Amino acid sequence: LLEVSSLAKAFGGNRVLQDVHLAIGRGEIVGLLGPNGSGKSTLLNTITGFEAIDAGSVRYAGQEIGRLAAHRIVGQGVARTFQLPSMPQKMSVIEVAMAAASAHHGFWETLLRGRAARRAEQAARDKATRLLDEFLLTHVRDLPASALSGGQKKLLGIVCALMGDPQLLMLDEPTAGVHPNLRNDIVQALLRLNRQGMTLVIVEHDMHFIREVCSRCIVLDRGHIVASCAPQELSSNERVLQAYLGGG
Ligand code: ATP
Ligand code: MG
Repeated sequence: LLEVSSLAKAFGGNRVLQDVHLAIGRGEIVGLLGPNGSGKSTLLNTITGFEAIDAGSVRYAGQEIGRLAAHRIVGQGVARTFQLPSMPQKMSVIEVAMAAASAHHGFWETLLRGRAARRAEQAARDKATRLLDEFLLTHVRDLPASALSGGQKKLLGIVCALMGDPQLLMLDEPTAGVHPNLRNDIVQALLRLNRQGMTLVIVEHDMHFIREVCSRCIVLDRGHIVASCAPQELSSNERVLQAYLGGG
């Protein structure tokens, strides 16, 4: 479904990603791990068009997307969440979720008129209502989104990403800062989405989460992929251990 080859990204002289190759098949749940600063978020940012790539290619469903703008990539069915989500000041939680639907589906509120616009709006409202319920945000749906706690913003980020029914969902530390009770709800929701056919890439530090959820892991160290293996093989993989112990 996703194929990244020879991808490189630098900020000034800081070469954050170097010669990254990876392939992700339809239906996989891939964990992306590595030390702080190893380039995980930057890899998500380049794949989803939030950062321009310096070299290499990104192919999604057979099409080159490596130089498309972020909104075009979202439109193709690739959604992502952010490590530290920021929310608009003046919109309520449900308005933010509904706005995400328009971002995914080509700005219906400006393109459609009359009854068609009202139908699209109602569909977005119904879907937002259902997803906010699923991610335990119903009681805060009319609060300003910027007033949510860090963990609640994470959940709203997932809701927004799901508003467009993506084929590929990339999550940047979805459970960091989220209460353990809710963590299990997120795990169950992600597994359910995967059973329904969604491919998932999840940046995560929590090995327990990785073992519970992921079918495969990719390990980054200083901008290089140093391992791609089953979660069970992580602890016996020397390059992974070196990455985490700061060796090599
Ligand atoms: P963490 O586990 O802490 O989230 P990460 O693996 O996600 O780390 P990145 O956020 O991808 O790491 O950062 C990798 C490197 O790229 C860091 O050295 C960071 O300072 C640098 N970097 C990331 N984004 C930018 C940017 N917009 N401008 C300059 N440098 C950046
Ligand atoms: Mg990060």
